[in-house]
Amino acid sequence: MDFLTLFLMYLCFVLTTIILVCIYSRRKQSFLARSVNGAAQVLSFVIPTRLQRMTQKVLHRLFHTRNCLFVVLHIALQAAVYGEYTWEVFGYCWELEFLIHLLLLPYLLLAMNTAFFILCSRANPGIITKSNHAPLIKIYAYDAVLFQKGIVCPTCNMEKPARSKHCSLCNICVHRFDHHCVWVNNCIGAFNTKYFFLYLFTLTAMAANIAIITAAFLIQVVLLSNMMHGSYIDDQGQEHAIEILFLIQHLFLTFPRIVFMLGFVILLTLVLGAYCCFNVYLALTNQTSNEWYKSRRYGCSHHLALQPQDRQVIYRNIYSNGVWMNLKEIFQPPTVLERKKKT
Ligand SMILES: [Zn+2]
Ligand SMILES: [Zn+2]
Repeated sequence: MDFLTLFLMYLCFVLTTIILVCIYSRRKQSFLARSVNGAAQVLSFVIPTRLQRMTQKVLHRLFHTRNCLFVVLHIALQAAVYGEYTWEVFGYCWELEFLIHLLLLPYLLLAMNTAFFILCSRANPGIITKSNHAPLIKIYAYDAVLFQKGIVCPTCNMEKPARSKHCSLCNICVHRFDHHCVWVNNCIGAFNTKYFFLYLFTLTAMAANIAIITAAFLIQVVLLSNMMHGSYIDDQGQEHAIEILFLIQHLFLTFPRIVFMLGFVILLTLVLGAYCCFNVYLALTNQTSNEWYKSRRYGCSHHLALQPQDRQVIYRNIYSNGVWMNLKEIFQPPTVLERKKKT
């Protein structure tokens, strides 16, 4: 197996892992969870019943209840990337006289990201209780399409306020529910969306920052060694000018861990960057992920769509108040008093 095949296999593996993990983090009954369940069903023919029950319990606990699995995975990945950065990249860059402020920036971003992570995972996302139900139900109007008046949550036994949803993992109803994030092990709702945004942006900045420094280091190595103007002799004894593929291969063999980490952080930057853009779009249009997902059943906003009863309805996002007010709503969730003043 040649280098190119190995490298492509590695890229496919990292990309597939990130995509699967991202899909899982957004939907509790994901492709990943269903695949694991499917594989368990196939194996049930050869595995003893007792072991099957134990496996089912573990899978249920991992994928259908609130647990720290993804938080631990998150910390382990961060530790691996920062360990490699500190152990090798930082030292080499220091020797090559990179600016110290640039080299310390990933640590500053890590401190900020950790703070937002703690705030996001510890904050009350907007749990609806008997005591705060009455004021919360007055904050948003029912749009009569995604949110109907008079629907009672069977678990909490309370009328669902508009824009709220019951989270089956946390077993609570959440005000302005966005989604349940397995990476922070908490629901994202009215009161912690701002921390989630800052957590996501600092995480993307961290990945991008490490990717830029590492790429700059490898480019510097290539330039200093003057390899670009050199040549190499292949297995048949023929001389060739150095090509980009040969350079990548050479760097991969000289700095395997650094190139491996660079591939990972570049893919992470692309995936997180795309997710950041999606969240900015949601914030600017005053939609939650839950509403965006549900509204797709009705086609795009402002379009005519068929309901299950074959009745034509118009879905319109009634919660948008203009770009700046929508952004303000993320960082300063509205209270009943503010809503009353407006009406
Ligand atoms: Zn509920
Ligand atoms: Zn939840």
